[in-house]
Amino acid sequence: MTITLDLSRSRDAAATPARRPNLTGLTRPALVAALEAGGLVQAGKAKMRASQLWRWMHHYGVTDFALMTDVAKELRAALSDAYDLSRPEVVERQVSVDGTRKWLIRMAPGIEVETVYIPDVGRSGALCVSSQVGCTLNCTFCHTGTQPLVRNLTAAEIVAQVQVARDELGEWPSPKEDRRLSNIVFMGMGEPLYNLDGVADAIDIIADNEGIAISRRRITVSTSGVIPELKALGERTQAMLAISLHATNDALRDELVPINRKYPIAELLAGIRAYPGLSNARRVTFEYVMLKGVNDSQAEARALVNLLAGVPAKINLIPFNPWPGSPYVCSDWGAIEGFAAILNRAGYASPIRTPRGRDILAACGQLKSESEKERASVRRARERVVVAGDSAGTDPRDPD
Ligand code: SAH
Ligand code: SF4
Repeated sequence: MTITLDLSRSRDAAATPARRPNLTGLTRPALVAALEAGGLVQAGKAKMRASQLWRWMHHYGVTDFALMTDVAKELRAALSDAYDLSRPEVVERQVSVDGTRKWLIRMAPGIEVETVYIPDVGRSGALCVSSQVGCTLNCTFCHTGTQPLVRNLTAAEIVAQVQVARDELGEWPSPKEDRRLSNIVFMGMGEPLYNLDGVADAIDIIADNEGIAISRRRITVSTSGVIPELKALGERTQAMLAISLHATNDALRDELVPINRKYPIAELLAGIRAYPGLSNARRVTFEYVMLKGVNDSQAEARALVNLLAGVPAKINLIPFNPWPGSPYVCSDWGAIEGFAAILNRAGYASPIRTPRGRDILAACGQLKSESEKERASVRRARERVVVAGDSAGTDPRDPD
């Protein structure tokens, strides 16, 4: 008798074991609920166990239950059989000549996001996190805006970006002082206010004092101006607010930031003035991308001063980062300085954001799509090498 084994299917089954729920991206209440529902911890002790696990996961950054020495050995083994603590895969790591680092992280098949660490920004270094894959909005100067929305990232996937950065920077246990990663900015891919639930839960986890402990005052959420969600953002997160303004009149902003057609400038400013917790100590950051001949005249700088009168604000001037096919060019340096001088004279701090990580395509508005392009070109280069009969395994990314 001949028995035929279906080896292909059994290999597949071995390659994709049943997935255990990952605990590292749950909020505290969700973690307690998961432990209660899982039935592994004694009734009435879920809250205490959750606190223990929380400290191991978010203060020490461990990804192995075996290291949780204040949990009984049998329970550690049972938890390890039932749950997962692992990180998503880091597909690519790049370091810029200026110290900026970029990671391409695969959250799930086809769901890859970029996260950028920028040294010497904020108190000591900022992590720029993505909140969506792609974006539904189509700001005309932004490369992400040319990509369709794939989906919102979950809170766990947003937190994972911080955990990966901490792993890579060697910042566990969570340092009290002298941190390299001191600030978080939601300025990567996507519109955070179209994913407020994910963003708010992620901030609850990141800001928790017994874990990653990055204070809410050091977390900034940047929005193109989704006015109906502004109040909820402030109330739920107490995060600092950044607004992508980019123009001082509706005609131009309608063109640059099309969501302006729905939520025009006057309504946006009214929403900002009502932002919970706004004060001179907690000012709004206005982002203003410098586009040559489009929005960079001295008259526009004066219009900006008038527009923001009475709003506790700082203004961040961002030199435009071009991308292939982009319809704009960056303003001349002199124009940017002239613009900044008018804002400074009116009493506004208006730093010009030095483009960082341009050599690794990590600057504002260049995320993800550019890296896909680069990877495609790397693939093409490799194919050329193979066709030319050179060493087939050579990866042009290898330094030597
Ligand atoms: N969607 C949110 C947050 C992500 S974009 C928002 O629009 O605010 C983060 C910042 O990068 C925004 O201020 C955005 O306007 C800016 N930006 C996008 N593309 C850019 C580019 N090519 N050059 C410079 N800044 C850019
Ligand atoms: Fe989306 Fe922000 Fe880019 Fe506009 S600037 S397309 S809102 S990511």
